[in-house]
Amino acid sequence: MAKLVLGDREFDSQEAFIRGGRRCGTPQLNDFQKERVRAHLRTARASGMEAAAVTQVEIPVHFHVLHDAGTGDLSDQELDAQLNVLNDSFKPHDIVFHRASVDRTDHSVWFRMTMGSAAERKAKTELGTEQHRALNFYTAGIGAGLLGWATFPSDLPGDPVSDGVVILYTSLPGGSSAPYNLGLTAVHEVGHWLGLYHTFEGGCFPPGDEVADTPFEASPNFGPPDPARDTCPNDDGVDPTTNYMDYTDDAGMTEFSPGQVSRMKEQIAIYRPDLLGTGLAQAAEAAGSARAAIDLETGDF
Ligand SMILES: [Zn+2]
Repeated sequence: MAKLVLGDREFDSQEAFIRGGRRCGTPQLNDFQKERVRAHLRTARASGMEAAAVTQVEIPVHFHVLHDAGTGDLSDQELDAQLNVLNDSFKPHDIVFHRASVDRTDHSVWFRMTMGSAAERKAKTELGTEQHRALNFYTAGIGAGLLGWATFPSDLPGDPVSDGVVILYTSLPGGSSAPYNLGLTAVHEVGHWLGLYHTFEGGCFPPGDEVADTPFEASPNFGPPDPARDTCPNDDGVDPTTNYMDYTDDAGMTEFSPGQVSRMKEQIAIYRPDLLGTGLAQAAEAAGSARAAIDLETGDF
């Protein structure tokens, strides 16, 4: 099997890379945090919130390009190519991204930030902005062979500074991290940023990824999509290997399920209501009454 080289790391094979958990660094929420999200969703639905009412989501993107003396210094054109990939994936679901600002910082330590590091904290404290109203999109030469990581919407109330996605700069369209260089890492991480779990979260057992129309999956897929892959044969379908929230090669990632779209829209209404466009009085009002019933900081309601 061919070796896979990503940044400063070499893996014996693509399988070794995926099995090592390297594609995505986003940590799973713990059981308490997951239950809190479930409770918020139940409360919001009881208040009349409907995902179907969320028909227009507009997300300004603040790009923070970290580089090391020019290495990683992405151009506006390269950032726009990434925005186009985000819009190709999300716009069919009425979620639209536009470039709000770009800053570029030459900082060799921030450029090599690892997840949860002091460097990440400092960079985000210095550069992050408008976390409740926008996506903070950091590009860097992140270490450890990771392609990216994200925060969840439910993290926002307690830790706005950390909010956003951090993406390996060579994973943007045209970058050097083949087969992960078509910009789908950002689509996947923004999926987390809007509240989605991996399709293989929880393996073959309920509640899995907490989305009803994505079949259970015991482990991440890697390589191209595999329409015959069925790691949980007792459930109601083959593995969702074309889904953006699996680990399939960029070229084979093609869809969110309707249930995932609803989950993202519900979490936008609850945790990121400032992203709702104009003309959404009904959804905003329902979400507002849900928010009024929830103490987002503590989870009490
Ligand atoms: Zn992920």
